[in-house]
Amino acid sequence: MDCLFCKIANKEIPSDLIYEDKYVVAFKDINPQAPVHFLVVPKVHIRSLDYLNEDQNYLISHIFKLIPSLTKEQGVENGYRVVNNCGPEGGQTVDHIHFHVLGKREMLWPPG
Ligand code: AMP
Ligand code: ZN
Repeated sequence: MDCLFCKIANKEIPSDLIYEDKYVVAFKDINPQAPVHFLVVPKVHIRSLDYLNEDQNYLISHIFKLIPSLTKEQGVENGYRVVNNCGPEGGQTVDHIHFHVLGKREMLWPPG
């Protein structure tokens, strides 16, 4: 399958990896929108949040439990934002589910 994030997870394409375990990789976004901006990506190919199955719930809780330790490791101290872009109007450009984590700057709301 020709999927960028599958290739990054399989190390076919290099990335600035900050974390890896059995289920996920986390790597720095190539076009950062904040001083800290990394992506948390499950190793299994899931197209988007719309395609998440009931038996993949563990993945989401795993990812959300992981994020606070990763932000701490990245030196984020005063809060951060977790973003999932889903589908074309949601701003998704890579069709493999991923969670953006942004920190070290004040975030705007509404996000625009
Ligand atoms: P989204 O628009 O939510 O699908 O997010 C895709 C993100 O992947 C964007 O923020 C891109 O900057 C990022 N991205 C694209 N290619 C790479 C890459 N090779 N390494 C790291 N991040 C990437
Ligand atoms: Zn994929």
